Amino acid sequence: MQTSEIGYNSKVEGDVVLTTVDAALSWFRANSVWPMPMGLACCAIELMAVGASRFDISRFGSEVMRFSPRQADCMIVAGTVTYKSAGFLKRIYDQMPEPKWVIAMGACASTGGMYRSYAVLQGVDNVVPVDVYVGGCPPRPEALLDALMKLQKKISQQPVLQNITALHLLDKKEEVAA
Ligand code: SF4
Repeated sequence: MQTSEIGYNSKVEGDVVLTTVDAALSWFRANSVWPMPMGLACCAIELMAVGASRFDISRFGSEVMRFSPRQADCMIVAGTVTYKSAGFLKRIYDQMPEPKWVIAMGACASTGGMYRSYAVLQGVDNVVPVDVYVGGCPPRPEALLDALMKLQKKISQQPVLQNITALHLLDKKEEVAA
């Protein structure tokens, strides 16, 4: 009987996959980004839409929105960052474990947007390092998904083992110097 080639077939696909540990770890990392939703204004509504069934962020492995910084690795800043909120935003970012990333969602988070006022920070990159900027006021949910895919590409190009080895060597050097 002829077997279908649609779907997984171990005879067609083979039982062995060759890769490097670094490539595998980067792939795991890139496809399990857990966001820390930092909804500060209207852009947060679009951020919520991304989690709903129509856009379904879980297709990208990022549906686990954590409201605890210790369980999140990607801060999504959605909305206007005032000087008053910049302080706690930075504190939450500092509490997130390494490695961590930031997406600035919308004109306000990226540049201050239309608010050239004494109360508004002119871009969240004044307090935290931003990996991907999303334009628009507000950006559509698809734009955020596009940013997430760009971040995934960036993460998958970052070596994991090399960085761990470099950190380990740095620790050793500091131990010797102390
Ligand atoms: S970019 Fe537009 S939609 Fe987003 S927070 Fe600013 S004013 Fe609101």
